[in-house]
Amino acid sequence: MKLAIKIFLFSILINSTVCIAQIKKRRVERTPNIIVVLADDLGYGDLGCYGHPTILTPNLDKMASEGMRFTQFYVGAAVCSPSRAALLTGRLGIRTGVYGIGDVFHVNSAGGLPLSEMTIAEMLKAKGYGTAIIGKWHLGSLPEYLPTHQGFDYWFGTPYSNDMGKVHTYQGKNIYSANNKPLPLYKNDQVIEEEPDQHFLTKRYTEEAVKYIKSKKDKPFFLYYASNFPHTPLYASPAFEGKSKRGIYGDVVTELDWSVGEILKTLKDLKLDKNTLVIFTSDNGPWLTQLDQGGSAGMLYEGKNSTYEGGMREPAIAWWPGKIKAGTINSALASTLDFLPTFANLAHANLSKDRILDGTDISEMLFGKKAQIRNMIYYYINENLYAIRKGAWKAHFTTHRSYSNEVPVVHETPLLYNIETDPSEKYDVAAQHPDIISDLKNEYEKQKKIIPAPSEIDKFIKP
Ligand code: MG
Repeated sequence: MKLAIKIFLFSILINSTVCIAQIKKRRVERTPNIIVVLADDLGYGDLGCYGHPTILTPNLDKMASEGMRFTQFYVGAAVCSPSRAALLTGRLGIRTGVYGIGDVFHVNSAGGLPLSEMTIAEMLKAKGYGTAIIGKWHLGSLPEYLPTHQGFDYWFGTPYSNDMGKVHTYQGKNIYSANNKPLPLYKNDQVIEEEPDQHFLTKRYTEEAVKYIKSKKDKPFFLYYASNFPHTPLYASPAFEGKSKRGIYGDVVTELDWSVGEILKTLKDLKLDKNTLVIFTSDNGPWLTQLDQGGSAGMLYEGKNSTYEGGMREPAIAWWPGKIKAGTINSALASTLDFLPTFANLAHANLSKDRILDGTDISEMLFGKKAQIRNMIYYYINENLYAIRKGAWKAHFTTHRSYSNEVPVVHETPLLYNIETDPSEKYDVAAQHPDIISDLKNEYEKQKKIIPAPSEIDKFIKP
């Protein structure tokens, strides 16, 4: 009898121990929250931790010192819409159709990111994630293309760039940029304001982001915070305006830096920091034709709308305390195209087998298990492949000065730069390396075989 009681008690003990272990395991295995902060038109040289002498970015500098700072990180295209489509789908513009001679979606665009594409938000939502976009969308502004139809549960922001509304006031009348429409501010599918005061946009986005994180503290979430800045026109709130030695551009970047600081602080306060991956980057290089209202690509040549490095190489910081080694500087190649497959791995989500991805899972690189994963970068203007990079070598087959009317120059023998010894692309060494030219020509011909999907950006609403 005594033995039977002992066995009974022992089995309860074993069962409850197993049960507690299972609960603990489940807790440990909760998939991470993911936050992507995307600046708009921020250049490679515009942050303190990337060498800017007068723009103060203490929060991003600290984020870099607690995480991984990339020095050769790329976006999928050199302008807003194709770059954002590439980030959210892991696919180049030629595959999604988000490219075209109009460059980006405009107020009167009829196209959008095709609904058949799978976005990060759709992928993570299927795994039970809460999904939100705070800020700029720019992947189609007709109702059917808005973020709430592309996997996001919540949206607070603008459908396109902050210069696609009121340009100025003339003789008491507001003058608008295209189709005479004020810039709308959306909450989900509803316009809640027209022509919001942009001085307070960063502050309001920050409040929205913090509120969202707090509301989701018990459930995994994906937050895509796509700031409208430092795209022109530039606006900072009174607390930041007039404070930077770099002028209004510096004020705006410092306010964005403050905003990222508030998000990281919220994660720490809620003890979510050990279970949240945060990545900060920009959609394309600096808009150089805006002169001192545009940013700087530092030592890199050219800017937005260019396939030189300044157009597509961006600052990028990945932060996940306890998982990503603090203070790492990573000079391996990586791209926003890699986000979707990487997040799929972290969230145990399935990738669609019916489509080709241009990104690769880089999680092992983030966690210090592999030094390098990606070896190729492709540089397109619309559907045209202008340049390719393989390892240290970059060949330009076509070149064109950004935002100029010059006819693009086609190079029969491509210009060849060693990007690691010559990051500013100054010294063409094609004549010294016929073997590398022939290898890169083969890679170019291979990539050129991809048949572009029909352009979405070239579709316009008839007036
Ligand atoms: Mg942009």
